[in-house]
Amino acid sequence: MPDHPALPTAPTSPASPTVPTLPTLRGLGVCAGTAAGPVARMGRPPVMPAARAVVDTDLELSIVRLALKTLAADLAERAAGVSGQARDILDALSMMADDPLLAETVEQHVTSGVDAAHALARAIDDQAALLREGGGYLAERAADLEDLRDRAVATVLGVPMPGIPDPGHPFVLVADDLAPADTATLDPASVLALVTVRGGPTSHTAILARALGIPAVVAVPGALTLDDGTLISVDGTAGTIRVGVDPGEVSRPRRRAVQEIEPGRTKDGHPVPLLLNIGSAQDIRSDAEGVGLLRTEFLFLGRNDAPSVEEQRAAYGQIFGAFPGKKVVIRTLDAGADKPLPFLALPAEENPALGIRGLRTSRLLPDVLEDQLAAIALAASDTEARVWVMAPMVATAAEAARFAERARSHGLTTVGVMVEIPSAALQARRILEHVDFLSIGTNDLGQYTMAADRQDGRLADLLDPWQPALLELVAACARAGRDLGKPVGVCGEAAADPDLAAVLVGMGISTLSMAAAGVPAVAANLAEHTQAQCRDLAAAVLAAGSPQEARAQIPHPRL
Ligand code: PEP
Ligand code: MG
Repeated sequence: MPDHPALPTAPTSPASPTVPTLPTLRGLGVCAGTAAGPVARMGRPPVMPAARAVVDTDLELSIVRLALKTLAADLAERAAGVSGQARDILDALSMMADDPLLAETVEQHVTSGVDAAHALARAIDDQAALLREGGGYLAERAADLEDLRDRAVATVLGVPMPGIPDPGHPFVLVADDLAPADTATLDPASVLALVTVRGGPTSHTAILARALGIPAVVAVPGALTLDDGTLISVDGTAGTIRVGVDPGEVSRPRRRAVQEIEPGRTKDGHPVPLLLNIGSAQDIRSDAEGVGLLRTEFLFLGRNDAPSVEEQRAAYGQIFGAFPGKKVVIRTLDAGADKPLPFLALPAEENPALGIRGLRTSRLLPDVLEDQLAAIALAASDTEARVWVMAPMVATAAEAARFAERARSHGLTTVGVMVEIPSAALQARRILEHVDFLSIGTNDLGQYTMAADRQDGRLADLLDPWQPALLELVAACARAGRDLGKPVGVCGEAAADPDLAAVLVGMGISTLSMAAAGVPAVAANLAEHTQAQCRDLAAAVLAAGSPQEARAQIPHPRL
């Protein structure tokens, strides 16, 4: 057994006379399951060298420009190699590295005589400090920027990247905390368990561990005293780590945690189906109540040639086939802006988020939509899933009517549209006269309501899903649904906020759709509120004048 003088030894049960008590570390178990293996610690952030005088400003400028470009390209490449949430996180980091405003600030520092490494660190730290002042969700985004700073500095210094180690065998990853870029690309086949010094039940580490089913313990103060190679056993249910286990224990297979997905219902039994947001067959959880958002563009990202009807039929059929008898809401391609699809060869534009994206691409390429609707109808007829289809980025009742007509002409019976543009929310009643359901995409609805780019971490306060203007639009949609007797769901990130989920249900939202990892917490919170309590919460929140005031209406917040 290795010597660990710094480790606290805190056995809780009396030592058995025959089994020696191993040193035990304690923390917060955030993902159930057990695993044992050798420790491998996270790559450390680069050590900042002393500042040096800049002798050639042009050279220094080219160093920072190249570093930011290299970093953005590296993150984008890693994003392309993964899917779902991992891709979103890495793409967001890549975009942060590519942000012209960041480049401008860094260049200003260089021009005033600061060397490349310090100019990068200073510019990124300033942005992070602003976010930290905002607290809560904003402060979490500051950690993303700190990760970006370390990577940028490592790039200019030419030292190893901080991040996940690669010892060449399965290991227990021990870290201060996991940055999003690390958690995103973490390989569950080689990482047996996770142990971190920091983190809480809703931190990135916890969310990713649950999504990957890796036993995890966070908030373990002494974790970094563990040396690389030490054999430990991690119990993600009890929140304990036994140090110095014998090799026989290591060879036992990991007991993976499977977070059960329960059906959503309020305390008084009112059902609120909790559906999945998925981007590929990898995200399928057959124990879910169904799929509330299948982002079809994720199936074909990076393609230079258009997928044929048969190819699409097979891809959709694979997913529909996993949900016999259950609802699967499939969204037609939401290409453009932050989700470019090379095979569409859309013309470049000044303001892509306000340009040809989502359903609007069918103005230029009507056949792409026709082929997709045909493929969806064929795949639906191949399986037992109850397939609903919807279009993204609908602005008017006329667009909704046209889409419904095209979808129905292919034999699709349940046709809806997403509400992501304020005009659609304001016209919800008229739109619902033409379609069978609405699904509110609060990510884009927030972006367009607040005129705040959803990729821009600096505007996260405006993109807060508790913003009164956004919630008023959601409530208007729910009212329209109730008046016309048609379902209105939410499939943006707002649905995964357990407190907000109860508020949405109180507004009359009929289904909530989110990544699988979010379902247990939302189910647990709904189970603690009657429908009448949800309504009271909704009334109080809708009367609030700010996100802070809105959150303050929740007597026992979960987050
Ligand atoms: C949304 O905008 O809220 C949404 C669910 O769609 P996406 O995130 O794919 O744009
Ligand atoms: Mg959207």
